[in-house]
Amino acid sequence: MEQLAIMGGNPVRVNKIYYGRQCVGEDEIKAVSEVLRSPFITCGPKVAEAEKRLAEYMGAKHAVVCSNGTAALHCACIAAGIGPGEEVITTPLTFAASANCAVYCGAKPVFADIDLETYNIDPQSIRDHITSRTKAVIAVDYTGQAVKIKEIREICNEYGLVFIEDAAHAIGTKYDGVHVGNLADMTCFSFHPVKTITCGEGGAITTNNDELYKKLILAHTHGITHDEELMEEAPHEGMWYYEQISLGFNYRMTDFQAAMLLSQLGKIEDFKKRRQEIVNKYNEAFRDVPGIIIQKEIPESDTCRHLYIIRLDLDKLTCTRRQFFDAMSAENIQPQIHYVPVYWFPFYRRMGYEKGLCPNAEEVYKGIMSIPLYPMMTDEDVNDVIAAVRKIACYYKK
Ligand SMILES: *Cc1c(COP(=O)(O)O)cnc(C)c1O
Repeated sequence: MEQLAIMGGNPVRVNKIYYGRQCVGEDEIKAVSEVLRSPFITCGPKVAEAEKRLAEYMGAKHAVVCSNGTAALHCACIAAGIGPGEEVITTPLTFAASANCAVYCGAKPVFADIDLETYNIDPQSIRDHITSRTKAVIAVDYTGQAVKIKEIREICNEYGLVFIEDAAHAIGTKYDGVHVGNLADMTCFSFHPVKTITCGEGGAITTNNDELYKKLILAHTHGITHDEELMEEAPHEGMWYYEQISLGFNYRMTDFQAAMLLSQLGKIEDFKKRRQEIVNKYNEAFRDVPGIIIQKEIPESDTCRHLYIIRLDLDKLTCTRRQFFDAMSAENIQPQIHYVPVYWFPFYRRMGYEKGLCPNAEEVYKGIMSIPLYPMMTDEDVNDVIAAVRKIACYYKK
């Protein structure tokens, strides 16, 4: 048996690779430089262009770009009218922002459990958690795979809830042939460097609803409008006049980020193709490795995968998840864990949430690990990752 690097053996590779990495080329550098030399580095034409292209790409009516994915979620909650005393149902297996956005609005996040095979929020568990205070559902397309849109849509219609999709992982994914971004009442995206496309920090919300769109615009720019039709007073003071008609934030994206985003948007289908190739290779390679469980895919989702998760079947291995993780690092393949269940964090524990709330999410959390997945990975990189997983799983096989 091959000696593990963590025990003094040779690592599968010399230089370390990480679970995710941006793909930025000369086109982005050129696009950003052009804006920096122009009169508008923020509130200029590139932001409007990026919004138009984003909406076109998804076939959505409106898109609003903003400073990051968390701001996108916050704006969506504001537009949904979420307020104190209300509840928002979301998943615990997500980045904290999916729940924090409800707390920003004074509402209470309620955690529904996940499906044990897809790791996405379970529609039945959403139903089980609805009360008279429930206002919205924030469903997360975990790893990029679409949630059960049809079932969640039905639940939201039945109970009059706002359906917000946290698609931070899922730009480029389609559900039943329709782009994510065009399915929920509002869909939120992130353009952080680990995500599928990036502009440093950035986010967006898409919607097909004109009323929500107006509210999103206000929320991301101080609640201020220059549009006379929206004004309450509209005293025709002159060109300089604007009105603050609600309380909003400064969540705007800059023009040089929008230029970078436009460049990345042009590459998304290539990124998706390469990500799918790598996912297929991993699925093939890990299908028959004892101790490794692969994520179940639903046929409705044509997935642009953001993360590749292996899940350790710890009953079939002699190691802990921690030992497997450290062994991967020593082989120079740096994994990451997505995510610690949100309500386990001290902030949420202080609010009264207790461990054991979502047994499936806690069970899945125990075994998961994200391994490298990004378009710039070479075939050799992919083979190294496969070799490391096989080597370690084989070593610790029961
Ligand atoms: C990254 C992420 C966010 C937050 O996006 P930022 O751009 O980092 O603010 C929200 N939800 C999920 C599921 C994410 O992965």
